[in-house]
Amino acid sequence: MATNRTVSPASVEEERQFETALRPTSLADFAGQPSVREQLAIAIEAAKRRGEAMDHVLLCGPPGLGKTTLAGIIAHELAVPVDQTAGPILQKKLDLTGILSNVRARQVFFIDEIHRLQPDIEEILYAALEDFRLDILIGAGPGARTHSITLPHFTAVGATTRQGLLSAPLRGRFGIVLRLDPYDEATLGKIVERSAGLLEIDTTADAAREIARRGRGTPRIANRLLRRVRDYAQVRADGHIDLGVAQAALDLLKVDRYGLDEIDHKIMLTIMEKFNGGPVGLSTIAASIDEQTDTIEEVYEPYLMQLGFLDRTPRGRMATDHAFDYFKIARHPQHRQNTLF
Ligand code: ADP
Repeated sequence: MATNRTVSPASVEEERQFETALRPTSLADFAGQPSVREQLAIAIEAAKRRGEAMDHVLLCGPPGLGKTTLAGIIAHELAVPVDQTAGPILQKKLDLTGILSNVRARQVFFIDEIHRLQPDIEEILYAALEDFRLDILIGAGPGARTHSITLPHFTAVGATTRQGLLSAPLRGRFGIVLRLDPYDEATLGKIVERSAGLLEIDTTADAAREIARRGRGTPRIANRLLRRVRDYAQVRADGHIDLGVAQAALDLLKVDRYGLDEIDHKIMLTIMEKFNGGPVGLSTIAASIDEQTDTIEEVYEPYLMQLGFLDRTPRGRMATDHAFDYFKIARHPQHRQNTLF
């Protein structure tokens, strides 16, 4: 999730190394998401028994929930290599044809942010995913001709935070479509404990749980908070993280009780203050806070709904009583909801 701090290339690299060190490599080590794990376990086992490439997989869900991790796990469990790219990196057709012409049988080809592919590149990908065929245009002008190469069968794993932006034909090429949801506090607590173990950080279970509670249902955020709390503990508490140390560090970092960020706050305050709790349409909220509707729907709402702050109803979004209590906002009793429409 975006934070507002300035990020230097060195800290990006440090963050990448940190994430890599904590990435589980087997399904057994991947916590939570039971239905996703089960569907993948079956698909992996079936592909292995048949000695064939596994079906293409599309992983959808907010950032930091484990899509990249799962792509690596799929390759690891299938015992095949993985090549990785991302929608915004593939700028020219040649970039994709170059990668595809080197693809090996049964390998995993991971495409992050697949919703950000250029349309002409997406077209090349259709044919490669559907027919394992790569059409290359040779020459230019009237003399140009198309040469088709047959590709070995491979497994594409696409990841997207914005399923709504994916064109229907591209989505249709994926045999397995899996949705990742924010993690519950107990599961996230286990992830924090595992990370603490790997990093040799001395943490109690209730401290891990406190970090998880403020991790916005997101392993990436919880792991980052663990790192910040470790810094605090080293300087202020001999390196040991118990509940009190975790709370003090997180309060100092101004991470609220549910780890909500600025956009979560804006969404909830708009519904409660401007629309007296709703119902209010998604596009109205989006216009009020200057955000894209898909981003609100696919990146922010899943966690707000998991917390029980937001309901999606056929008439629009509604803030719950729990949200009014938490944000300490009073409803206007005289302001009847249906007068808003
Ligand atoms: P995404 O690709 O969805 O943005 P990543 O796969 O990069 O997310 O995950 C971010 C970090 O969170 C990684 O360092 C990974 O170790 C950790 N992580 C994500 N999901 C899990 C999980 N289910 N169990 C343990 N760690 C996880």
